[in-house]
Amino acid sequence: MTRRVAMISEHASPVAVLGGVDAGGQNVYVDAVSRGLGALGYDTDVFTVRGDLAHPEVVAWADGVRVIEIPVGAGAPLLKDALWPYMPAFRDAITHFADREGTQYDLIHGNFWMSGWVAAELRSRWRVPAVHIFHATGVTKQREQGAADTSPAGRIDVEKGVVRSVDRLIAQCPAERDELLTDYGARADQITLIPSAVDIDRFRPVDKQVARRALGLDPAAEIIVYVGRLVPRKDVRNIIHALAWLKARRIASGAATVPALIIVGGETEQPDAVATPEIGVLRSLAAELDVLDQVRFVGHRQPDELHLWYAAADVAVTTPWYEPFGLTPLEAMACGVPVIGSRVGGIAFTIVDGETGYLVPPRDPEALSFRLDDVLRNPERRLGMGQAGRARVLCSFTWQQVAARTAALYDELLAQDATPPPQSRQSGVPAVVAEMPQPQGVSA
Ligand code: UDP
Repeated sequence: MTRRVAMISEHASPVAVLGGVDAGGQNVYVDAVSRGLGALGYDTDVFTVRGDLAHPEVVAWADGVRVIEIPVGAGAPLLKDALWPYMPAFRDAITHFADREGTQYDLIHGNFWMSGWVAAELRSRWRVPAVHIFHATGVTKQREQGAADTSPAGRIDVEKGVVRSVDRLIAQCPAERDELLTDYGARADQITLIPSAVDIDRFRPVDKQVARRALGLDPAAEIIVYVGRLVPRKDVRNIIHALAWLKARRIASGAATVPALIIVGGETEQPDAVATPEIGVLRSLAAELDVLDQVRFVGHRQPDELHLWYAAADVAVTTPWYEPFGLTPLEAMACGVPVIGSRVGGIAFTIVDGETGYLVPPRDPEALSFRLDDVLRNPERRLGMGQAGRARVLCSFTWQQVAARTAALYDELLAQDATPPPQSRQSGVPAVVAEMPQPQGVSA
């Protein structure tokens, strides 16, 4: 029997262009998991807020997968932190769509906190099980970003309500499971660990010189690559500081060369400090530290080209302050490239320190510079780490595995008796949907 899944992902659509401020790992996850579920016979409708008014409402996206884009606001795309007031309209548009078509969904899969609220609401209306994955949590964001956290007020209370409302929570790594237990009071038996993954056909090893020729890069240079969104918490500034440390040490030791740092990401395909203010900040910092000549901004690139940027590099690096999971280290590993990452969140789980790359403390450019130097000076170690990285990904981090585990979780829930309303599900648990902070709704 075909099962129908409503995948809710308010700001992150599979259809979006990646690399911009609000388009990263969640988009990749929703795309890959939906496709995998579609291939396993779960018809999946992805509901998302329409980012581009030129898109049709319903897109047949892949076998068994449709993307339904719901327009909200006056037309111009909204940043994700502005979407919260539109969630009641988003919820209602989803139910209207289902009613209009006569579609009955068997299961709801929420993504991110706002869609968690929508998932909890729909769970109570439709009386079907709801699975939720946060992708990032408000408590950690608040702790790490402090005043710079632009999340709407009430986010954390909504998240706590989501935890109490949904049937299952997917954690992408042990650190996220701990956060759900400690910061959100989730029950251990409510959490299923399903690490995210990589498209291993797309992210594949390519001979370094072949990749460099394809991209017009210097065949002899030492190249460090960063791929990802350019937002402060990714701390690309830390990598530039590390490059300055490295340069100073190389000069002091009489070496003639200083490695190049290639930065892939941003709002546009050509690097543009107006569209991507972080590029301006990074450029000024590089100039101040006298490494501007060593830094090249590329702009964002789409996934079908990214393997070349990884493969052209001697080492990939990502040192965010915190990272709920982090797909880019796995992508580099899948391309056979060693990765240096900060020992936080999912990165501490995916990189095996000393085997597939190195883990370093966040906000410690000197430590990073030592590891970079070490990897750059040791071609044999690089080769071994690259091979170990690819092997680790093939063994443990494929989207086929994620889809199969997700389907197994759905089956377990669907095999249970009819989903009771949240207030009677567990003794002592209040009627949380009603108790959760409600968005001050505006109409679509
Ligand atoms: N990405 C991309 N093009 C770019 C920059 C990033 O396709 O120019 C992709 C990257 O390959 C990865 C995702 O965006 O798949 C970023 O996910 P990650 O989990 O590393 O970080 P997040 O964006 O979720 O914080």
